[in-house]
Amino acid sequence: MNLPGTTRRPLEGQHFQVVVIGGGINGVAIARECARAGRRTLLVEQHDFAAGTTSRSTRMMHGGLRYLEHGEIGLVRESLRERQRLLRERSHLVHPVNFLLALDSKSRRSALSIRTGLWLYRRLGGKPLGANASQEDERRLERVLDSGRRWSLFSFEDAQCEFPERLVAEWLMEAVAAGAVARNHTQVLAVDVFHGRAKGVLLHDRLSGKEDRVEASWIINATGPWADRVCQRSRINTGQPMLGGVRGSHLVLPRFAGAPDAAVYTEATDGRPIFVIPWNDQVLVGTTEIPDNGDPAKAEPSTNEMEYLLRSLLHLFPGARVSLHDIRYSFAGVRPLPFSPKTRPSDVSRKHYLHDHTSDGAAHMISVVGGKLTTAAELARQCVAKLGLGSRTAPTLVTAPEESLDALLDGWVTEISQAGGIGAGSAQAIVEWHGGRSKAIASTAATSAKMRASLCPHTPHIVAEAVDAFTHQGAVTLADVLLRRVPVALGGCWSEACSRDAAMRIGTVMGWNEHQAAAELEAFETERAAFLRKPTRVDLMLEAAAD
Ligand SMILES: Cc1cc2nc3c(=O)[nH]c(=O)nc-3n(C[C@H](O)[C@H](O)[C@H](O)COP(=O)(O)OP(=O)(O)OC[C@H]3O[C@@H](n4cnc5c(N)ncnc54)[C@H](O)[C@@H]3O)c2cc1C
Repeated sequence: MNLPGTTRRPLEGQHFQVVVIGGGINGVAIARECARAGRRTLLVEQHDFAAGTTSRSTRMMHGGLRYLEHGEIGLVRESLRERQRLLRERSHLVHPVNFLLALDSKSRRSALSIRTGLWLYRRLGGKPLGANASQEDERRLERVLDSGRRWSLFSFEDAQCEFPERLVAEWLMEAVAAGAVARNHTQVLAVDVFHGRAKGVLLHDRLSGKEDRVEASWIINATGPWADRVCQRSRINTGQPMLGGVRGSHLVLPRFAGAPDAAVYTEATDGRPIFVIPWNDQVLVGTTEIPDNGDPAKAEPSTNEMEYLLRSLLHLFPGARVSLHDIRYSFAGVRPLPFSPKTRPSDVSRKHYLHDHTSDGAAHMISVVGGKLTTAAELARQCVAKLGLGSRTAPTLVTAPEESLDALLDGWVTEISQAGGIGAGSAQAIVEWHGGRSKAIASTAATSAKMRASLCPHTPHIVAEAVDAFTHQGAVTLADVLLRRVPVALGGCWSEACSRDAAMRIGTVMGWNEHQAAAELEAFETERAAFLRKPTRVDLMLEAAAD
Protein backbone atom coordinates (compact mmCIF):
# COMPACT_ATOMS: atom_id res chain seq x y z
CA MET A 1 0.00 0.00 0.00
CA ASN A 2 1.11 3.63 -0.42
CA LEU A 3 2.28 6.22 2.03
CA PRO A 4 1.20 9.84 1.52
CA GLY A 5 3.69 11.65 -0.62
CA THR A 6 5.12 8.49 -2.18
CA THR A 7 4.70 7.85 -5.89
CA ARG A 8 2.41 5.06 -6.90
CA ARG A 9 3.71 2.58 -9.45
CA PRO A 10 2.43 3.32 -12.96
CA LEU A 11 -0.18 0.93 -14.32
CA GLU A 12 0.23 1.95 -17.98
CA GLY A 13 0.07 -0.95 -20.41
CA GLN A 14 -0.64 -3.62 -17.78
CA HIS A 15 -3.19 -6.33 -18.40
CA PHE A 16 -5.65 -7.43 -15.75
CA GLN A 17 -8.10 -10.28 -15.96
CA VAL A 18 -10.65 -8.22 -14.06
CA VAL A 19 -10.87 -4.45 -13.55
CA VAL A 20 -13.42 -3.45 -10.93
CA ILE A 21 -14.50 0.20 -11.11
CA GLY A 22 -15.74 1.62 -7.81
CA GLY A 23 -14.47 0.91 -4.30
CA GLY A 24 -17.72 0.92 -2.35
CA ILE A 25 -18.76 -2.17 -0.43
CA ASN A 26 -19.84 -3.95 -3.63
CA GLY A 27 -16.71 -3.20 -5.66
CA VAL A 28 -14.40 -4.19 -2.81
CA ALA A 29 -16.35 -7.41 -2.23
CA ILE A 30 -16.18 -8.26 -5.94
CA ALA A 31 -12.44 -7.50 -6.17
CA ARG A 32 -11.81 -9.71 -3.13
CA GLU A 33 -13.80 -12.56 -4.66
CA CYS A 34 -12.03 -12.26 -8.06
CA ALA A 35 -8.59 -12.15 -6.44
CA ARG A 36 -9.45 -15.18 -4.35
CA ALA A 37 -10.43 -16.94 -7.55
CA GLY A 38 -6.83 -16.44 -8.65
CA ARG A 39 -7.58 -13.72 -11.23
CA ARG A 40 -5.26 -10.73 -11.69
CA THR A 41 -7.56 -8.01 -10.41
CA LEU A 42 -7.38 -4.22 -10.37
CA LEU A 43 -9.76 -2.22 -8.17
CA VAL A 44 -10.00 1.52 -8.85
CA GLU A 45 -11.83 4.11 -6.80
CA GLN A 46 -12.10 7.76 -7.81
CA HIS A 47 -12.20 9.02 -4.23
CA ASP A 48 -11.55 6.73 -1.27
CA PHE A 49 -12.80 3.22 -0.55
CA ALA A 50 -16.25 3.43 1.07
CA ALA A 51 -16.48 7.21 0.59
CA GLY A 52 -19.63 6.91 -1.59
CA THR A 53 -23.05 5.53 -0.69
CA THR A 54 -21.50 2.95 1.62
CA SER A 55 -20.60 5.52 4.29
CA ARG A 56 -23.86 7.43 3.79
CA SER A 57 -26.26 4.62 4.68
CA THR A 58 -28.28 3.86 7.82
CA ARG A 59 -25.70 1.20 8.67
CA MET A 60 -28.14 -1.62 9.36
CA MET A 61 -27.34 -5.21 8.46
CA HIS A 62 -30.92 -6.21 8.11
CA GLY A 63 -33.34 -8.41 6.27
CA GLY A 64 -35.57 -5.42 5.60
CA LEU A 65 -38.79 -6.08 7.49
CA ARG A 66 -40.70 -3.70 5.24
CA TYR A 67 -39.70 -5.56 2.07
CA LEU A 68 -42.09 -8.29 3.24
CA GLU A 69 -44.91 -5.83 2.54
CA HIS A 70 -43.80 -5.87 -1.09
CA GLY A 71 -43.75 -9.67 -1.13
CA GLU A 72 -39.94 -9.76 -1.56
CA ILE A 73 -39.49 -12.91 0.47
CA GLY A 74 -36.48 -14.03 -1.57
CA LEU A 75 -34.65 -10.75 -0.89
CA VAL A 76 -35.50 -10.88 2.82
CA ARG A 77 -34.33 -14.50 3.09
CA GLU A 78 -31.06 -13.70 1.27
CA SER A 79 -30.45 -10.62 3.43
CA LEU A 80 -31.16 -12.47 6.66
CA ARG A 81 -28.78 -15.25 5.67
CA GLU A 82 -26.07 -12.66 4.99
CA ARG A 83 -26.87 -10.86 8.26
CA GLN A 84 -26.29 -14.16 10.08
CA ARG A 85 -23.00 -14.71 8.28
CA LEU A 86 -21.74 -11.21 9.10
CA LEU A 87 -22.74 -11.56 12.75
CA ARG A 88 -20.76 -14.78 12.92
CA GLU A 89 -17.73 -13.76 10.90
CA ARG A 90 -17.35 -10.06 11.82
CA SER A 91 -18.65 -10.01 15.34
CA HIS A 92 -16.38 -7.08 16.28
CA LEU A 93 -18.10 -4.87 13.67
CA VAL A 94 -21.63 -6.26 13.30
CA HIS A 95 -23.77 -6.73 16.37
CA PRO A 96 -27.37 -7.60 17.19
CA VAL A 97 -29.72 -4.74 18.01
CA ASN A 98 -33.06 -4.81 19.74
CA PHE A 99 -35.67 -2.91 17.71
CA LEU A 100 -38.99 -1.59 18.92
CA LEU A 101 -41.57 -0.99 16.24
CA ALA A 102 -43.80 1.85 17.48
CA LEU A 103 -47.09 2.43 15.68
CA ASP A 104 -49.94 4.67 16.75
CA SER A 105 -53.65 4.09 16.16
CA LYS A 106 -53.56 6.12 12.92
CA SER A 107 -51.15 3.68 11.26
CA ARG A 108 -52.46 2.04 8.12
CA ARG A 109 -50.73 -1.16 9.24
CA SER A 110 -52.92 -3.36 11.42
CA ALA A 111 -51.59 -5.10 14.52
CA LEU A 112 -52.47 -8.43 12.93
CA SER A 113 -50.47 -7.75 9.76
CA ILE A 114 -47.51 -6.57 11.86
CA ARG A 115 -47.61 -9.69 14.02
CA THR A 116 -47.80 -11.88 10.94
CA GLY A 117 -44.90 -10.00 9.32
CA LEU A 118 -42.76 -10.29 12.44
CA TRP A 119 -43.56 -13.97 12.79
CA LEU A 120 -42.39 -14.53 9.20
CA TYR A 121 -39.32 -12.31 9.69
CA ARG A 122 -38.27 -14.31 12.75
CA ARG A 123 -38.87 -17.59 10.98
CA LEU A 124 -36.81 -16.55 7.97
CA GLY A 125 -34.08 -15.20 10.27
CA GLY A 126 -33.46 -18.50 12.07
CA LYS A 127 -32.33 -18.68 15.63
CA PRO A 128 -32.50 -15.60 17.91
CA LEU A 129 -29.55 -13.19 17.73
CA GLY A 130 -29.39 -12.47 21.46
CA ALA A 131 -30.04 -8.73 21.22
CA ASN A 132 -31.19 -8.65 24.87
CA ALA A 133 -34.68 -7.36 24.23
CA SER A 134 -35.90 -6.11 27.58
CA GLN A 135 -39.30 -5.19 28.98
CA GLU A 136 -37.54 -2.23 30.54
CA ASP A 137 -36.66 -0.88 27.04
CA GLU A 138 -40.34 -1.04 26.15
CA ARG A 139 -41.46 0.64 29.36
CA ARG A 140 -38.84 3.38 28.94
CA LEU A 141 -39.97 4.01 25.38
CA GLU A 142 -43.64 4.10 26.41
CA ARG A 143 -42.82 6.81 28.95
CA VAL A 144 -41.29 9.17 26.37
CA LEU A 145 -43.66 8.61 23.46
CA ASP A 146 -46.37 11.21 22.81
CA SER A 147 -48.86 10.44 25.60
CA GLY A 148 -51.76 11.89 23.60
CA ARG A 149 -51.66 8.97 21.17
CA ARG A 150 -52.35 5.27 21.61
CA TRP A 151 -49.23 3.28 20.79
CA SER A 152 -48.63 -0.35 19.95
CA LEU A 153 -45.09 -1.60 20.47
CA PHE A 154 -43.62 -4.69 18.86
CA SER A 155 -40.14 -5.95 19.54
CA PHE A 156 -37.81 -7.69 17.08
CA GLU A 157 -34.09 -8.25 16.49
CA ASP A 158 -31.87 -7.04 13.70
CA ALA A 159 -28.20 -6.12 13.32
CA GLN A 160 -26.13 -2.97 12.98
CA CYS A 161 -22.70 -2.32 11.51
CA GLU A 162 -21.87 1.03 13.04
CA PHE A 163 -18.91 1.48 10.70
CA PRO A 164 -19.31 -0.13 7.27
CA GLU A 165 -16.16 1.88 6.41
CA ARG A 166 -14.27 -0.52 8.66
CA LEU A 167 -15.86 -3.58 7.10
CA VAL A 168 -14.78 -2.31 3.68
CA ALA A 169 -11.23 -1.69 4.99
CA GLU A 170 -11.03 -5.29 6.18
CA TRP A 171 -12.34 -6.72 2.92
CA LEU A 172 -9.92 -4.47 1.04
CA MET A 173 -6.95 -5.84 2.99
CA GLU A 174 -8.17 -9.37 2.25
CA ALA A 175 -8.48 -8.52 -1.46
CA VAL A 176 -4.92 -7.16 -1.52
CA ALA A 177 -3.64 -10.16 0.45
CA ALA A 178 -5.21 -12.38 -2.22
CA GLY A 179 -3.28 -10.48 -4.92
CA ALA A 180 -5.57 -7.62 -6.00
CA VAL A 181 -4.03 -4.26 -6.91
CA ALA A 182 -6.11 -1.49 -5.30
CA ARG A 183 -5.95 2.20 -6.22
CA ASN A 184 -8.00 4.89 -4.58
CA HIS A 185 -8.08 8.52 -5.76
CA THR A 186 -7.97 7.10 -9.28
CA GLN A 187 -10.85 7.72 -11.63
CA VAL A 188 -11.88 5.71 -14.65
CA LEU A 189 -12.34 8.35 -17.33
CA ALA A 190 -13.78 5.89 -19.83
CA VAL A 191 -14.05 2.22 -20.65
CA ASP A 192 -12.35 1.40 -23.96
CA VAL A 193 -14.71 -0.46 -26.27
CA PHE A 194 -13.55 -1.94 -29.60
CA HIS A 195 -15.62 -4.02 -32.00
CA GLY A 196 -18.41 -4.64 -29.50
CA ARG A 197 -16.17 -5.64 -26.64
CA ALA A 198 -14.89 -3.80 -23.53
CA LYS A 199 -11.10 -4.03 -23.65
CA GLY A 200 -9.72 -1.79 -20.95
CA VAL A 201 -9.99 1.49 -19.10
CA LEU A 202 -8.40 4.92 -19.16
CA LEU A 203 -7.36 5.93 -15.64
CA HIS A 204 -6.69 9.34 -14.14
CA ASP A 205 -4.63 9.42 -10.95
CA ARG A 206 -6.15 12.37 -9.11
CA LEU A 207 -3.12 12.77 -6.87
CA SER A 208 -0.40 12.87 -9.52
CA GLY A 209 -2.56 13.98 -12.47
CA LYS A 210 -1.14 11.10 -14.55
CA GLU A 211 -3.20 9.10 -17.00
CA ASP A 212 -2.70 5.36 -17.58
CA ARG A 213 -4.39 2.98 -19.96
CA VAL A 214 -4.80 -0.64 -18.83
CA GLU A 215 -6.23 -3.65 -20.61
CA ALA A 216 -8.79 -5.97 -19.12
CA SER A 217 -10.47 -9.25 -19.97
CA TRP A 218 -13.50 -8.30 -17.86
CA ILE A 219 -14.74 -4.97 -16.54
CA ILE A 220 -17.11 -4.70 -13.63
CA ASN A 221 -18.81 -1.34 -13.22
CA ALA A 222 -19.53 -1.30 -9.47
CA THR A 223 -19.91 2.44 -9.18
CA GLY A 224 -23.28 2.39 -7.39
CA PRO A 225 -25.24 5.53 -8.25
CA TRP A 226 -22.52 6.58 -10.73
CA ALA A 227 -23.04 3.50 -12.94
CA ASP A 228 -24.94 5.28 -15.74
CA ARG A 229 -22.33 8.05 -15.82
CA VAL A 230 -19.54 5.54 -16.48
CA CYS A 231 -21.53 4.13 -19.41
CA GLN A 232 -22.34 7.59 -20.82
CA ARG A 233 -18.70 8.67 -20.71
CA SER A 234 -17.72 5.46 -22.48
CA ARG A 235 -20.45 5.92 -25.11
CA ILE A 236 -22.11 2.67 -24.08
CA ASN A 237 -25.76 3.09 -24.90
CA THR A 238 -27.98 1.22 -22.46
CA GLY A 239 -31.20 2.43 -24.09
CA GLN A 240 -32.74 3.65 -20.88
CA PRO A 241 -30.95 4.50 -17.63
CA MET A 242 -30.08 1.52 -15.47
CA LEU A 243 -30.62 3.48 -12.27
CA GLY A 244 -33.02 5.91 -10.69
CA GLY A 245 -31.21 7.65 -7.84
CA VAL A 246 -33.14 8.15 -4.62
CA ARG A 247 -31.53 10.35 -1.98
CA GLY A 248 -31.75 9.41 1.66
CA SER A 249 -30.75 11.85 4.42
CA HIS A 250 -29.94 11.38 8.09
CA LEU A 251 -29.58 13.61 11.14
CA VAL A 252 -27.04 12.95 13.87
CA LEU A 253 -28.07 14.35 17.24
CA PRO A 254 -26.66 14.14 20.74
CA ARG A 255 -28.45 11.68 23.00
CA PHE A 256 -31.33 13.88 24.17
CA ALA A 257 -33.08 13.44 27.52
CA GLY A 258 -35.31 10.38 27.20
CA ALA A 259 -33.61 9.11 24.04
CA PRO A 260 -34.43 5.40 23.78
CA ASP A 261 -31.79 2.74 24.41
CA ALA A 262 -33.41 0.46 21.86
CA ALA A 263 -33.49 1.26 18.16
CA VAL A 264 -36.93 2.51 17.17
CA TYR A 265 -38.61 1.83 13.88
CA THR A 266 -41.67 3.96 13.35
CA GLU A 267 -43.71 6.01 10.91
CA ALA A 268 -42.78 9.59 10.04
CA THR A 269 -45.32 12.42 9.90
CA ASP A 270 -46.39 11.22 6.43
CA GLY A 271 -46.60 7.52 7.31
CA ARG A 272 -43.21 6.60 5.74
CA PRO A 273 -41.00 4.32 7.83
CA ILE A 274 -38.10 5.97 9.66
CA PHE A 275 -35.46 4.83 12.14
CA VAL A 276 -34.25 6.44 15.38
CA ILE A 277 -31.14 4.48 16.27
CA PRO A 278 -28.47 4.73 18.96
CA TRP A 279 -25.26 5.09 16.95
CA ASN A 280 -21.70 6.00 17.83
CA ASP A 281 -22.85 7.34 21.25
CA GLN A 282 -25.28 9.63 19.43
CA VAL A 283 -28.74 9.30 17.87
CA LEU A 284 -29.10 8.64 14.13
CA VAL A 285 -32.43 9.63 12.57
CA GLY A 286 -33.23 8.63 9.01
CA THR A 287 -34.17 8.55 6.35
CA THR A 288 -35.88 10.23 3.39
CA GLU A 289 -36.58 9.13 -0.19
CA ILE A 290 -36.17 11.96 -2.70
CA PRO A 291 -35.59 11.23 -6.40
CA ASP A 292 -32.13 12.61 -7.18
CA ASN A 293 -30.26 12.12 -10.43
CA GLY A 294 -27.65 14.78 -9.77
CA ASP A 295 -23.99 14.09 -9.07
CA PRO A 296 -24.02 11.58 -6.17
CA ALA A 297 -20.80 13.12 -4.84
CA LYS A 298 -22.69 16.32 -4.16
CA ALA A 299 -25.72 14.74 -2.44
CA GLU A 300 -26.62 16.64 0.69
CA PRO A 301 -29.70 16.90 2.90
CA SER A 302 -32.01 19.75 1.97
CA THR A 303 -33.47 22.03 4.62
CA ASN A 304 -36.85 20.40 3.98
CA GLU A 305 -35.45 16.96 4.70
CA MET A 306 -33.79 18.12 7.91
CA GLU A 307 -37.05 19.69 9.06
CA TYR A 308 -39.06 16.63 8.07
CA LEU A 309 -36.80 14.31 10.06
CA LEU A 310 -36.77 16.64 13.03
CA ARG A 311 -40.56 17.09 12.95
CA SER A 312 -41.01 13.33 12.73
CA LEU A 313 -38.72 12.86 15.71
CA LEU A 314 -40.63 15.42 17.77
CA HIS A 315 -43.93 13.88 16.69
CA LEU A 316 -42.71 10.69 18.32
CA PHE A 317 -40.87 12.20 21.31
CA PRO A 318 -42.55 15.55 22.05
CA GLY A 319 -40.37 16.02 25.14
CA ALA A 320 -37.13 15.71 23.23
CA ARG A 321 -36.55 19.49 23.02
CA VAL A 322 -34.28 19.30 20.00
CA SER A 323 -34.10 21.85 17.20
CA LEU A 324 -32.00 22.46 14.09
CA HIS A 325 -29.43 24.04 16.44
CA ASP A 326 -28.84 20.66 18.07
CA ILE A 327 -28.02 18.81 14.88
CA ARG A 328 -24.38 17.78 15.13
CA TYR A 329 -24.35 17.01 11.46
CA SER A 330 -26.43 15.51 8.71
CA PHE A 331 -25.44 13.48 5.70
CA ALA A 332 -27.05 12.08 2.59
CA GLY A 333 -26.45 9.32 0.07
CA VAL A 334 -28.08 8.29 -3.18
CA ARG A 335 -29.56 4.80 -3.30
CA PRO A 336 -28.61 3.15 -6.58
CA LEU A 337 -32.08 1.73 -7.23
CA PRO A 338 -33.12 0.09 -10.50
CA PHE A 339 -34.68 2.61 -12.92
CA SER A 340 -38.44 2.48 -12.28
CA PRO A 341 -39.88 5.88 -13.26
CA LYS A 342 -43.48 4.86 -12.64
CA THR A 343 -42.94 3.45 -9.16
CA ARG A 344 -42.87 5.39 -5.88
CA PRO A 345 -39.30 5.42 -4.46
CA SER A 346 -40.34 3.42 -1.39
CA ASP A 347 -41.91 0.73 -3.59
CA VAL A 348 -38.88 0.22 -5.87
CA SER A 349 -37.29 -3.16 -5.27
CA ARG A 350 -34.07 -3.15 -3.25
CA LYS A 351 -32.91 -6.31 -4.99
CA HIS A 352 -29.71 -6.06 -7.02
CA TYR A 353 -29.07 -7.40 -10.49
CA LEU A 354 -26.08 -7.66 -12.82
CA HIS A 355 -26.48 -5.93 -16.18
CA ASP A 356 -24.54 -7.61 -18.98
CA HIS A 357 -23.59 -4.99 -21.61
CA THR A 358 -23.19 -7.43 -24.51
CA SER A 359 -26.40 -6.24 -26.16
CA ASP A 360 -25.27 -2.61 -25.61
CA GLY A 361 -22.19 -3.29 -27.75
CA ALA A 362 -19.79 -3.81 -24.83
CA ALA A 363 -19.38 -7.53 -24.21
CA HIS A 364 -17.27 -8.53 -21.19
CA MET A 365 -18.57 -5.61 -19.18
CA ILE A 366 -21.06 -5.96 -16.33
CA SER A 367 -22.72 -3.23 -14.27
CA VAL A 368 -23.97 -3.75 -10.75
CA VAL A 369 -27.44 -2.28 -10.26
CA GLY A 370 -28.83 -1.84 -6.75
CA GLY A 371 -27.75 -3.78 -3.71
CA LYS A 372 -27.49 -3.32 0.01
CA LEU A 373 -24.62 -3.33 2.47
CA THR A 374 -26.09 -6.51 3.88
CA THR A 375 -25.97 -8.47 0.63
CA ALA A 376 -22.64 -7.20 -0.82
CA ALA A 377 -20.72 -10.44 -0.22
CA GLU A 378 -23.48 -12.52 -1.83
CA LEU A 379 -23.62 -10.10 -4.78
CA ALA A 380 -19.85 -10.58 -5.21
CA ARG A 381 -20.25 -14.37 -5.26
CA GLN A 382 -22.97 -14.05 -7.90
CA CYS A 383 -20.78 -11.73 -9.96
CA VAL A 384 -17.84 -14.13 -9.90
CA ALA A 385 -20.17 -16.98 -10.88
CA LYS A 386 -21.44 -14.90 -13.83
CA LEU A 387 -17.85 -14.42 -14.97
CA GLY A 388 -17.41 -18.17 -14.79
CA LEU A 389 -14.81 -17.94 -12.03
CA GLY A 390 -14.98 -19.99 -8.87
CA SER A 391 -13.24 -18.96 -5.65
CA ARG A 392 -10.07 -21.08 -5.33
CA THR A 393 -9.11 -20.08 -1.84
CA ALA A 394 -11.43 -20.66 1.06
CA PRO A 395 -11.92 -17.42 2.98
CA THR A 396 -9.78 -17.26 6.10
CA LEU A 397 -12.03 -15.97 8.77
CA VAL A 398 -11.69 -15.67 12.47
CA THR A 399 -14.83 -17.13 13.95
CA ALA A 400 -15.51 -17.80 17.55
CA PRO A 401 -17.97 -20.05 19.33
CA GLU A 402 -20.82 -17.70 20.22
CA GLU A 403 -21.09 -18.59 23.89
CA SER A 404 -17.48 -17.61 24.58
CA LEU A 405 -17.47 -14.36 22.58
CA ASP A 406 -17.47 -11.99 25.57
CA ALA A 407 -14.74 -13.91 27.35
CA LEU A 408 -12.74 -14.06 24.14
CA LEU A 409 -13.08 -10.30 23.68
CA ASP A 410 -11.98 -9.62 27.27
CA GLY A 411 -8.93 -11.85 26.79
CA TRP A 412 -8.13 -10.12 23.51
CA VAL A 413 -8.37 -6.66 25.05
CA THR A 414 -5.98 -7.66 27.86
CA GLU A 415 -3.53 -9.09 25.34
CA ILE A 416 -3.61 -5.96 23.15
CA SER A 417 -3.30 -3.68 26.16
CA GLN A 418 -0.19 -5.54 27.37
CA ALA A 419 1.40 -5.91 23.93
CA GLY A 420 0.94 -2.24 23.06
CA GLY A 421 1.58 -0.74 26.51
CA ILE A 422 -1.79 1.00 26.25
CA GLY A 423 -4.78 1.34 28.57
CA ALA A 424 -7.75 -1.03 28.46
CA GLY A 425 -9.97 1.70 26.95
CA SER A 426 -7.70 2.14 23.94
CA ALA A 427 -7.19 -1.62 23.61
CA GLN A 428 -10.95 -2.18 23.56
CA ALA A 429 -11.47 0.61 21.01
CA ILE A 430 -8.77 -0.90 18.78
CA VAL A 431 -10.20 -4.42 18.99
CA GLU A 432 -13.71 -3.17 18.17
CA TRP A 433 -12.60 -1.38 15.02
CA HIS A 434 -9.64 -3.39 13.82
CA GLY A 435 -10.39 -7.01 14.83
CA GLY A 436 -7.62 -9.22 13.52
CA ARG A 437 -5.23 -6.30 12.85
CA SER A 438 -5.22 -5.24 16.48
CA LYS A 439 -2.04 -7.19 17.25
CA ALA A 440 -0.09 -5.46 14.49
CA ILE A 441 -1.37 -2.08 15.69
CA ALA A 442 -0.35 -2.96 19.26
CA SER A 443 3.17 -3.77 18.03
CA THR A 444 3.37 -0.35 16.38
CA ALA A 445 2.04 1.29 19.55
CA ALA A 446 4.74 -0.43 21.59
CA THR A 447 7.49 1.36 19.62
CA SER A 448 7.02 4.87 21.08
CA ALA A 449 4.93 7.13 23.28
CA LYS A 450 4.06 9.19 20.18
CA MET A 451 2.46 6.11 18.62
CA ARG A 452 0.49 5.49 21.80
CA ALA A 453 -0.81 9.07 21.98
CA SER A 454 -4.55 9.47 21.50
CA LEU A 455 -5.62 11.15 18.25
CA CYS A 456 -7.34 13.95 20.19
CA PRO A 457 -8.07 14.48 23.88
CA HIS A 458 -11.56 12.91 23.65
CA THR A 459 -10.93 9.61 21.96
CA PRO A 460 -9.35 6.35 23.10
CA HIS A 461 -8.17 5.75 19.51
CA ILE A 462 -4.44 6.26 19.03
CA VAL A 463 -1.88 7.44 16.49
CA ALA A 464 -0.66 3.87 15.77
CA GLU A 465 -4.08 3.12 14.21
CA ALA A 466 -3.64 6.03 11.80
CA VAL A 467 -0.16 4.83 10.87
CA ASP A 468 -1.50 1.34 10.21
CA ALA A 469 -4.23 2.88 8.02
CA PHE A 470 -1.56 4.52 5.87
CA THR A 471 0.78 1.55 5.73
CA HIS A 472 -1.63 -1.40 5.48
CA GLN A 473 -5.16 -0.22 4.85
CA GLY A 474 -4.88 1.82 1.67
CA ALA A 475 -5.37 5.26 3.23
CA VAL A 476 -3.62 8.01 1.30
CA THR A 477 -4.92 11.23 2.85
CA LEU A 478 -5.66 12.43 6.36
CA ALA A 479 -9.36 12.42 5.43
CA ASP A 480 -9.13 8.74 4.39
CA VAL A 481 -7.87 8.02 7.89
CA LEU A 482 -10.07 10.20 10.10
CA LEU A 483 -13.33 9.74 8.17
CA ARG A 484 -13.05 6.08 7.17
CA ARG A 485 -10.17 3.86 8.46
CA VAL A 486 -10.21 5.27 12.00
CA PRO A 487 -13.49 7.23 11.77
CA VAL A 488 -13.09 9.27 14.93
CA ALA A 489 -14.26 12.41 13.10
CA LEU A 490 -17.80 10.97 13.06
CA GLY A 491 -17.83 11.16 16.86
CA GLY A 492 -19.97 13.61 18.78
CA CYS A 493 -17.17 15.66 20.27
CA TRP A 494 -15.12 16.19 17.11
CA SER A 495 -14.18 19.81 16.46
CA GLU A 496 -11.64 21.86 14.52
CA ALA A 497 -9.34 21.64 17.54
CA CYS A 498 -9.52 17.82 17.37
CA SER A 499 -8.67 17.96 13.66
CA ARG A 500 -5.62 20.13 14.40
CA ASP A 501 -4.46 17.85 17.24
CA ALA A 502 -4.88 14.71 15.14
CA ALA A 503 -3.09 16.22 12.12
CA MET A 504 -0.18 17.33 14.28
CA ARG A 505 0.16 14.03 16.14
CA ILE A 506 -0.11 11.93 13.00
CA GLY A 507 2.14 14.29 11.01
CA THR A 508 4.89 14.02 13.64
CA VAL A 509 5.22 10.25 13.33
CA MET A 510 4.65 10.25 9.56
CA GLY A 511 7.44 12.80 9.09
CA TRP A 512 5.26 15.42 7.39
CA ASN A 513 6.76 18.85 6.98
CA GLU A 514 4.80 21.93 8.03
CA HIS A 515 3.48 22.57 4.55
CA GLN A 516 2.30 18.97 4.08
CA ALA A 517 0.61 18.87 7.48
CA ALA A 518 -1.22 22.14 6.74
CA ALA A 519 -2.31 20.91 3.30
CA GLU A 520 -3.58 17.59 4.71
CA LEU A 521 -5.46 19.40 7.46
CA GLU A 522 -7.06 21.85 5.07
CA ALA A 523 -8.15 19.12 2.63
CA PHE A 524 -9.56 17.07 5.51
CA GLU A 525 -11.56 19.99 6.92
CA THR A 526 -12.97 20.77 3.48
CA GLU A 527 -14.06 17.17 2.99
CA ARG A 528 -15.48 16.89 6.51
CA ALA A 529 -17.58 20.04 6.05
CA ALA A 530 -18.92 18.83 2.69
CA PHE A 531 -19.80 15.34 3.96
CA LEU A 532 -21.03 16.08 7.49
CA ARG A 533 -23.31 19.08 6.91
CA LYS A 534 -24.38 21.42 9.65
CA PRO A 535 -27.61 23.38 9.17
CA THR A 536 -26.72 26.70 7.56
CA ARG A 537 -27.14 30.05 9.26
CA VAL A 538 -30.12 30.70 6.98
CA ASP A 539 -31.79 27.46 8.12
CA LEU A 540 -31.31 28.46 11.74
CA MET A 541 -32.64 32.00 11.14
CA LEU A 542 -35.71 30.60 9.39
CA GLU A 543 -36.33 28.27 12.30
CA ALA A 544 -35.97 31.07 14.82
CA ALA A 545 -38.38 33.23 12.79
CA ALA A 546 -40.95 30.41 12.72
CA ASP A 547 -40.82 29.95 16.53
C1 LIG B 1 -29.79 6.66 2.72
C2 LIG B 1 -29.35 5.24 2.53
C3 LIG B 1 -29.53 4.32 3.54
C4 LIG B 1 -29.14 3.01 3.36
N1 LIG B 1 -29.23 2.15 4.41
C5 LIG B 1 -28.83 0.86 4.26
C6 LIG B 1 -28.86 -0.01 5.38
O1 LIG B 1 -29.18 0.38 6.49
N2 LIG B 1 -28.50 -1.30 5.17
C7 LIG B 1 -28.11 -1.76 3.95
O2 LIG B 1 -27.82 -2.95 3.83
N3 LIG B 1 -28.02 -0.93 2.88
C8 LIG B 1 -28.36 0.36 3.03
N4 LIG B 1 -28.28 1.23 1.98
C9 LIG B 1 -27.83 0.72 0.68
C10 LIG B 1 -26.32 0.65 0.61
O3 LIG B 1 -25.70 1.69 1.31
C11 LIG B 1 -25.87 0.71 -0.83
O4 LIG B 1 -26.63 -0.14 -1.62
C12 LIG B 1 -24.41 0.31 -0.97
O5 LIG B 1 -23.61 1.09 -0.12
C13 LIG B 1 -23.98 0.47 -2.40
O6 LIG B 1 -22.61 0.18 -2.47
P1 LIG B 1 -21.84 0.33 -3.82
O7 LIG B 1 -20.50 -0.21 -3.60
O8 LIG B 1 -22.66 -0.28 -4.91
O9 LIG B 1 -21.86 1.90 -4.11
P2 LIG B 1 -20.94 3.07 -3.49
O10 LIG B 1 -20.68 2.87 -2.05
O11 LIG B 1 -21.57 4.35 -3.88
O12 LIG B 1 -19.58 2.88 -4.25
C14 LIG B 1 -19.41 3.23 -5.60
C15 LIG B 1 -18.05 3.87 -5.72
O13 LIG B 1 -17.73 4.07 -7.08
C16 LIG B 1 -16.87 5.19 -7.15
N5 LIG B 1 -16.84 5.68 -8.53
C17 LIG B 1 -17.83 6.30 -9.20
N6 LIG B 1 -17.43 6.61 -10.45
C18 LIG B 1 -16.16 6.17 -10.57
C19 LIG B 1 -15.21 6.23 -11.62
N7 LIG B 1 -15.49 6.77 -12.80
N8 LIG B 1 -13.98 5.71 -11.38
C20 LIG B 1 -13.67 5.15 -10.20
N9 LIG B 1 -14.53 5.09 -9.17
C21 LIG B 1 -15.77 5.59 -9.35
C22 LIG B 1 -17.51 6.16 -6.17
O14 LIG B 1 -16.59 7.15 -5.74
C23 LIG B 1 -17.97 5.24 -5.06
O15 LIG B 1 -17.07 5.19 -3.97
C24 LIG B 1 -28.61 2.59 2.14
C25 LIG B 1 -28.40 3.51 1.11
C26 LIG B 1 -28.75 4.83 1.32
C27 LIG B 1 -28.48 5.84 0.26
